[in-house]
Amino acid sequence: MNSKHRQHIALISVHGDPAVEIGKEEAGGQNVYVRHLGEALAHLGWHVDMFTRKASADDPVIVEHSPRCRTIRLKAGPEAFVPRDKIFGYTGEFLDNLLRFQEWEGVRYSLVHTNYWISAWVGMQWKKRQSIPQVHTYHSLGAVKYQSVEAIPMIAGTRLDVEKAVLETAERTVATSPQEKDHIRSLVSSKGHIQIIPCGTDIQRFGAIDRTQARQQLGWNPDEKIIFYVGRFDPRKGIETLVRAVGCSQIRHDPQVKLIIGGGSRPGYSDGIERERIEAIVDELGMRDITTFTGRIRDELLSVYYTAADVCVVPSHYEPFGLVAIEAMACSTPVIASDVGGLQFTVVPEETGLLAPPKDEVAFAEAIDRILSHPDWRNQLGQRARWRVEEKFSWDGVAHQLSDLYLQLVRNSSQVLEQASA
Ligand code: UDP
Repeated sequence: MNSKHRQHIALISVHGDPAVEIGKEEAGGQNVYVRHLGEALAHLGWHVDMFTRKASADDPVIVEHSPRCRTIRLKAGPEAFVPRDKIFGYTGEFLDNLLRFQEWEGVRYSLVHTNYWISAWVGMQWKKRQSIPQVHTYHSLGAVKYQSVEAIPMIAGTRLDVEKAVLETAERTVATSPQEKDHIRSLVSSKGHIQIIPCGTDIQRFGAIDRTQARQQLGWNPDEKIIFYVGRFDPRKGIETLVRAVGCSQIRHDPQVKLIIGGGSRPGYSDGIERERIEAIVDELGMRDITTFTGRIRDELLSVYYTAADVCVVPSHYEPFGLVAIEAMACSTPVIASDVGGLQFTVVPEETGLLAPPKDEVAFAEAIDRILSHPDWRNQLGQRARWRVEEKFSWDGVAHQLSDLYLQLVRNSSQVLEQASA
């Protein structure tokens, strides 16, 4: 991109702070996506400001990630953790502070990319005041989520309305997988422009060392058979299915088998409650001696865990994309995932891993047994998984696709403005 295109763009992620530690409550794929996207776009020459809600009095207002890329935390409600369903009430304040910041800095943003429905609302209101093209990524769809929850929250109606309105009015909606596009079309609206651009991962960082080095670093024995999960503690993630699957697998009685469960949690919060529930199931099945809860896994260690594992399991009930799957694959580790959503796109059964029906512990157990008892096949799956990520899901490739989309939309919008003023 030449310097004339070095324009200012705004990424909005009201509830997913791109500068926060990943792996804690409410911090997961969206935070990772926004941060990596922002950094990669800045690398391509854009000036990127990532706006999020200030959720702690101790957090700095501005975090500089790299030249031309920063997180800006705006006041919106209390400077404390607020569950995402309660944040919508503060979005008016968020928008006011965003416009004030823009005026104070004297910048004019050429495009806004919103993430999740709460940010979609902010983007739509912004567009009512200033002409600015909007790109939107859902990260999660209310219409899918509410199919599987027992209690529909009060906010559901508002969320569904916003999700429909943004699809119909944004210049482009980015679906991260063909499966997500189908869901958007069938469950949200037949109007609006959708483009499929997947999530990406850092193929230099993930896959930098080999399995022997990774095991040495973690102090794991080369003969151990390691089944690995990492992600948020949320019932939707299906960790219970994984634990029960290991419990009923044939391999479970092999003295070398270990189940490693990674991810942060805080006692008393929803993730702490889910972790306690999972620990109780581990105890009930008599699996304490083969199970380790690592807590949150820091960025620097994440690729070491993925690489050292024999198999990574992603047993989610639903997943619009599922970054964990491609991170593991980038580390040449095959993935056993639920046969849902974006996981049907990233994991190719029998080629880079296996798919099993969600919540089906017997099917997961069979898949785990198959992979762990065929080490050569396991290695082939892992190698093909790595190739698939290199070909389709590298951050550089994904950022180029998004950058091209932005350029096209920015050009279209300046042509419209020129025509209007002619
Ligand atoms: N993650 C992490 N450390 C942890 C747990 C999770 O860095 O202890 C990261 C993980 O590597 C991935 C993200 O959190 O990048 C989870 O994204 P995913 O799309 O799999 O799930 P989501 O959280 O969006 O539901």
